Amino acid sequence: MRERLEQLRAEGLEALSRADSEDELREIEVRFLGRNGALTHLLKDLGGLSPEERPEMGKLANEVKAEIAASLESLRLNLKEQAYSLEISGSGFDGSLPGPSGPRGGVHPLTQVLWDLEDLASRMGFAVVDGPEVETEENNFDALNISVDHPARESHDTIWVKGDSQSGGGLCLRTHTSCVQVRALKEHGAPLRVVAPGRVFRQETQDATHDHTFHQMEGLVVDRGVGVPHMLHAMEALLAGLFGRPLETRLRPGYFPFVEPGFELDARCPFCDEGCRICSRTGWIELMPGGLVHPKVLDACGVDSNVFSGYAFGLGLSRVAMLRYGIDDIRWMFSGDLRFLEQFRL
Ligand SMILES: [Zn+2]
Repeated sequence: MRERLEQLRAEGLEALSRADSEDELREIEVRFLGRNGALTHLLKDLGGLSPEERPEMGKLANEVKAEIAASLESLRLNLKEQAYSLEISGSGFDGSLPGPSGPRGGVHPLTQVLWDLEDLASRMGFAVVDGPEVETEENNFDALNISVDHPARESHDTIWVKGDSQSGGGLCLRTHTSCVQVRALKEHGAPLRVVAPGRVFRQETQDATHDHTFHQMEGLVVDRGVGVPHMLHAMEALLAGLFGRPLETRLRPGYFPFVEPGFELDARCPFCDEGCRICSRTGWIELMPGGLVHPKVLDACGVDSNVFSGYAFGLGLSRVAMLRYGIDDIRWMFSGDLRFLEQFRL
């Protein structure tokens, strides 16, 4: 028995020393260690040995088995390493090629519109200013000539953080970014040329063109001798820059407490010819409210309205994105739906 085991060990190791492929290794493994292999057959004869011999031969058989198995594994590893070295040194291997790429991201349509607007406004000489989203009643309403009994103060429009529409001294989520202009005017005085982009909040019933959270950019210019033609020129220049061409627009009177006179600049609805749900069946979409800054607003911000005048305009970023990209429902913007967002991949 002992001789047969020793012979098997020698034969196995000798066979392994000549093997130089994975196939050969597998063949040797089957021949010696497999279910019908030489060693397995030999182990079956252990039962015929005397009780004294059996443990010793069993131990030796396990040693032979372990030795052949260990040698097999180390040879397998060597073969793999050799194959790898061959691959990276071969002529077909280019270590500078990029690996497999992951999914690509994109810029949200609102962010793209915001960046473009900031870029355009900066080139037109506007400074970009920012302010808090929780605003005082004074900055959001009082300084903008929105009296206590104005409908915009009522709770169905404004989300109050502290106080309510009638309390005075309250805090609210800003309902527009006009309050950032108030802050800029109070801080820097006139002359001033700023745009204030940002997120604003209203208690709106959500539908295709209204959301409780939306983005605006408002512009304000205060200087000597500023009038309506300056305002119109700035509005049209911004829109032409945004859309890459002059838009078909119309100007009509509009009422906002903080301007006098006030206007609404509408753009032709791109979704229909004669009216659809997006344009409330009018064929026009309200795009840019504006007007000459009310003297009371200038005075409330510490600017002498006898010396200075100004114009202000606003622009809903969602509206711009809807028009620019043909998005037919504002609620897609914050839906988090990847099918929508994937259309804006870079
Ligand atoms: Zn329409």
